[in-house]
Amino acid sequence: MNQNRNVNRQITLNSRPHGAPTLSNFNLVESAIPEAGEGEILLRTIYLSLDPYMRGRMNDAKSYAPPVALGEVMVGGSICRVEVSNHQGFEQGDLVVAFSGWQDYSVSNGEGVIKLDSAMENPSYGLGVLGMPGLTAYMGLMDIGQPKKGETLVVAAATGAVGSLVGQIGKLQGCKVVGIAGSKEKCDYAVRELGFDACLNHNDADLESQLATVCSNGIDIYFENVGGKVFNTVLPLLNSKARVPLCGLIAQYNATDLPEGPDRMGLLMGNLLVKRIKMQGFIVFDDYGHRYDEFQQAMVPWLMSGQIKYKEDKVSGLENASAAFIGLLQGENFGKLVVQVGPEHLD
Ligand code: NDP
Repeated sequence: MNQNRNVNRQITLNSRPHGAPTLSNFNLVESAIPEAGEGEILLRTIYLSLDPYMRGRMNDAKSYAPPVALGEVMVGGSICRVEVSNHQGFEQGDLVVAFSGWQDYSVSNGEGVIKLDSAMENPSYGLGVLGMPGLTAYMGLMDIGQPKKGETLVVAAATGAVGSLVGQIGKLQGCKVVGIAGSKEKCDYAVRELGFDACLNHNDADLESQLATVCSNGIDIYFENVGGKVFNTVLPLLNSKARVPLCGLIAQYNATDLPEGPDRMGLLMGNLLVKRIKMQGFIVFDDYGHRYDEFQQAMVPWLMSGQIKYKEDKVSGLENASAAFIGLLQGENFGKLVVQVGPEHLD
C-alpha cells in the first residue's frame, strides 16, 4: 500500500535483536492518522533517514538516548510536510526537518522541528549533507581532528554519509586523504568522484601492508567510523600527536560479546600514552547542535560550487525500510541511505 490520507502505516519494534537484526524484529502496522491538538502540527513523512545509531536504540541498554520500547514506532529523522497546523510557528504546506520516526503521519508540538525552504530543490539533503551526518563530519573533523595542510587523514566507511564528507572536507583543508571502504566499486568512486588520494578495501587480505605503503608518513588524523579490524590496522601507523575523532563503531553494533583474540587494551593505552594521541568521542547534537549555523555557512557554498559532492542511496517505500536498515549494517548502502516514504505533494 502506498502512502494515502486514510491510514497511518508505522514500523514498530517487534522484538529486540540478538546480533544482526532480522525482518522479524520489525512490524508493519496500520493505525488511524493522529489529530493535531491545540498548539500542535500534523506531519506527513516524505523522506525517512536510516542511520546506524538506530541499531543501538533497538537494545534495552543504557546509552546516551533511551531505547525504543517494544511495540513503539522506530525513531528516526525525517523530512515532512505540515498537513495541519494549530501552531503559530508553522503553516500548512511547510517543509520541515523533524524526528517523526518510521511512519507516515505524526503529531508534534513543534519542539525540535526546523523549517526548510518549501521550494528546496533536494529536501532529502536536509537528512544528509546539510543535516545530521554533515554536521557530524564537519565538526568531528574540524573541531576534534584539527586538520592541517599536508597532514595524512584516514577515514573509514569512506563513501557513506559521514565518511564521504569527512574526506572531501579534509581535501579542502589540504590534507592527503585515504579512505577505507568495503568494495572496489566504493573505493573507485572515492578516488575518481570524491577526489580522495587513495582508497583501500577493508576486505582485502593485505589491507595492513597496503595502508602502510599508502600512508608512508604515518597517519595524523584517523576519523573513526567503524572500529574492529580497521582500527587495529590503523593503530600502529598513528603518528605522535595524532587526533582520532571517535565518531562511530559500526563494526561492533551487532556484537553480542567482546571480540575474540588477545586483549588489545594494553596496546591501545600504550600507543595513546607514548604517542600522546588525542582520541575523543562525540555525540553530534549534544556536543555541536549549537554550532549548526557555522557548519551551514561552510557547507552550503561548498555544495553549491560543486567542491563537495553528495551521493544518496534512495529506497522507495516505507515497507522496504527494515530491509534497507539491515543492509546498512552490512555495508549494502552506497551513499546516504534515505527512504522515500511518500511524495512531496500528496493528492
Ligand atoms: P554510512 O552511510 O557510512 O553506512 C554505514 C557503512 O559502514 C556501511 O555502508 C559500511 O561501509 C560500513 N560498515 C558496516 N559494517 C562494517 C564493518 N563491520 N566493518 C567496516 N565497515 C562497516 O553510515 P553513516 O555515515 O551514517 O555513519 C558512519 C558512522 O558514524 C557510524 O558508525 C555511525 O554510528 C556514526 N555516527 C556517529 C554520530 C555521532 O554523533 N557520534 C553521528 C552520525 C553517525 P563499507 O561498505 O564501506 O564498509
